Amino acid sequence: MKLAVIGAGYAGLAAAVELAAAGRAVEVFEASRVLGGRARAAEIDGVKADNGQHILVGAYRETLRLMRAVGANPDELLRRTPLRFEFPGEFLMSAPRLPAPLHAAGALLFARGLDWREKWAALRLMRGLQAGSFRVEPDITVTQWLDGNRTPPRQRRFLWEPLCIAALNTPAERASAQVLAHVLRDSLGGNREASDLLLPQVDLSALFPEPAANFIARHGGAVHRGRRITSLRHAGGGWQIDDGGPFAQVVLAVAPYHLASLVPALAPEVAHFEWEPIVTSYLRYPATVRLAQPMLGVDAGLAQWLFDRGALCGQAGLIAAVISARGRHLDLPAEELERGIHREIARVVPNLPAPLAVQTIAEKRATFACVPNLRRPVARTALPGLWLAGDYVAGDYPATIEGAVKSGVGAARGILGA
Ligand SMILES: Cc1cc2nc3c(=O)[nH]c(=O)nc-3n(C[C@H](O)[C@H](O)[C@H](O)COP(=O)(O)OP(=O)(O)OC[C@H]3O[C@@H](n4cnc5c(N)ncnc54)[C@H](O)[C@@H]3O)c2cc1C
Repeated sequence: MKLAVIGAGYAGLAAAVELAAAGRAVEVFEASRVLGGRARAAEIDGVKADNGQHILVGAYRETLRLMRAVGANPDELLRRTPLRFEFPGEFLMSAPRLPAPLHAAGALLFARGLDWREKWAALRLMRGLQAGSFRVEPDITVTQWLDGNRTPPRQRRFLWEPLCIAALNTPAERASAQVLAHVLRDSLGGNREASDLLLPQVDLSALFPEPAANFIARHGGAVHRGRRITSLRHAGGGWQIDDGGPFAQVVLAVAPYHLASLVPALAPEVAHFEWEPIVTSYLRYPATVRLAQPMLGVDAGLAQWLFDRGALCGQAGLIAAVISARGRHLDLPAEELERGIHREIARVVPNLPAPLAVQTIAEKRATFACVPNLRRPVARTALPGLWLAGDYVAGDYPATIEGAVKSGVGAARGILGA
């Protein structure tokens, strides 16, 4: 009997690629015509951009491995730069090109905008995590963890809190210190390449989903776009997907808020999840406008990070401003938010002209809120031959591309070993 995957986000496609690579024909059903789910291409003012600016890091090993497997060369499609955290005029941390662990120590010790006491405190914090094998037991919030380590205020404001919100999409006062510790283990605590920033130079559908779909087709499978599945039933020893089937095994790779309508029995697995938004405003300026760096932090602004899409993907003059998690920005009308972001860009770009066009995309349920001790479902369900894949499935990572890909690979390996 055939295999099926429902949902062609990064998790579903990772599962399908892994199955196809093992010689199994797999059919993928995706509701949208665009592949990639929450990390997909979107048209902005006639230009191909994304539903939200994404960052990958060198620690995304499974994502990079699968990109290579499907013929999407990460060295060409991603711009790799050493870790650089910059809030102009306030703080700059960049990882020197030194072997691990000197790159992390060097980044903290040579950070600009912290005094020596604060630098030592940051190093002590990392050393403490390393000594405890990056375990935070019992899990607490990042704020409680920083309080417990008597972390100085500037270090929180420019390092740990922005890192937490960027990686976990959850404010420090609600975020899991354990999950942040996992992220630090695999990035700053890993080898030098692991902490590199990887900024997409193509849209997020072209980065992996489209090459993955081609790979699946070349290996005897198929990706059906515009096919929203409405019914999934177990009958006669297999699964019926709408009027197709039977399928021996199915990977359900939809976002958690779409689970219940397809398999009501799974609803309690995710009923306790809460969601955090991510807002991306794209401001298009004349092509001569550029940022001093491809990625800049905004201190105490409406925006948190600015990305120069001219430097990244040749879209000269297009600036993406990202705001993660809940906050005061959600109460503002779009025009007011966009005017505020324009003023923040003007702080770092002298003589900034008015934008030629502005568009904001708010993803209201961008990720689950990554709170301490969150109970996450495992890939293998109690239903025969039904597997879950997605960024929310049990794992070390917060809701990220790498978390999604790892879960897809995990579900596929479960099927292959079953
Ligand atoms: C704006 C934004 C910014 C982000 N920034 C980052 C970042 O910088 N770095 C990072 O690593 N991560 C980031 N993330 C998180 C990352 O995008 C997600 O964790 C990841 O894409 C989730 O993938 P997934 O496959 O688990 O789920 P999804 O992408 O949600 O995929 C589920 C798929 O299932 C489909 N589907 C649903 N119901 C059905 C149905 N009934 N029939 C058929 N198909 C169905 C959907 O259309 C969708 O394509 C960001 C997310 C957002 C929204």
